[in-house]
Amino acid sequence: LAQLFRPLDMLGMVYREIKQGLVDMEQMFKLVDTQAEIADAPDAVPLVLRGGNVRFAGVDFSYEPRRQILHDVSFDIAPGRKLAVVGHSGAGKSTLSRILYRFYDIAGGHVTIDGQDIRKVTQSSLRRAIGIVPQDTVLFNDTIGYNIGYGRAGATQAEIEAAAREASIHDFIVSLPDGYATPVGERGLKLSGGEKQRVAIARTILKDPAILILDEATSALDSATEAEIQDALHNVAERRTTLVIAHRLSTVTDADEIVVMDAGRIVERGTHAELMALTGLYASMWALQQAEAEGEMVAVK
Ligand code: ATP
Repeated sequence: LAQLFRPLDMLGMVYREIKQGLVDMEQMFKLVDTQAEIADAPDAVPLVLRGGNVRFAGVDFSYEPRRQILHDVSFDIAPGRKLAVVGHSGAGKSTLSRILYRFYDIAGGHVTIDGQDIRKVTQSSLRRAIGIVPQDTVLFNDTIGYNIGYGRAGATQAEIEAAAREASIHDFIVSLPDGYATPVGERGLKLSGGEKQRVAIARTILKDPAILILDEATSALDSATEAEIQDALHNVAERRTTLVIAHRLSTVTDADEIVVMDAGRIVERGTHAELMALTGLYASMWALQQAEAEGEMVAVK
């Protein structure tokens, strides 16, 4: 009976968290089969990773039949490289990450990982290969140690602590009276947005995926927290193929390639320097964000 109640209890909790708007795609998939229509192909085989090359080729996509969201989107992320996607709200940035994780199937084109079409591999192997650091992270009503260890079944305390160190949250945790045994979530300690994001980063470090999706939080964090998060993100992105959905252009100037999206199309692409030289949409978004940042500094003074 206990075996039956535990998942039910988890479902109830996940439902409550989703209601509160704390949606974590990765956990939603594990716990609630919301996308039943996406099924494994009858002859699906496990994904074979060879470095983690991610390729979108001529991708067309619609959530609903009469409104096309992505138009002919193509990009290639070489193993271990970082591609950043920027663009105004609603341009289609997060849609790319949902497609890579196969939340939805595309209407035209191909998405491949190391040359294998993601529709032809098992979803379990696909999702094992990809780690997501979402904007908002679901926390379980359990200890903070459990919440990090969730990244990989069977992780030892030493591995959990090493991941927490890399995610710059270990010092915070040991400063709590009960350390790693401190309960968090609805009935325990409430974590700030930045702390929650570092828990998500530590989880992902434990999961150790070849491919990483970073969905940057839209809400600005204070600059000290922001710097810590950027450090932690830098650690987790190293040596992994990374797709960053970025809202602040200043955080992705080091990306190997930046694609600029507008209304579901890639309108510019290149490095930060190349895009600035184009004096197009990227350069105007950059100028706007710089002006906003300066405005904030004046307001603080
Ligand atoms: P933001 O920067 O605000 O997060 P975004 O560039 O990530 O925006 P997406 O979330 O990819 O934008 O959304 C692209 C478009 O798809 C939007 O016009 C949005 O209204 C639409 N859309 C997103 N999710 C759904 C959905 N589940 N069903 C129908 N339309 C959707």
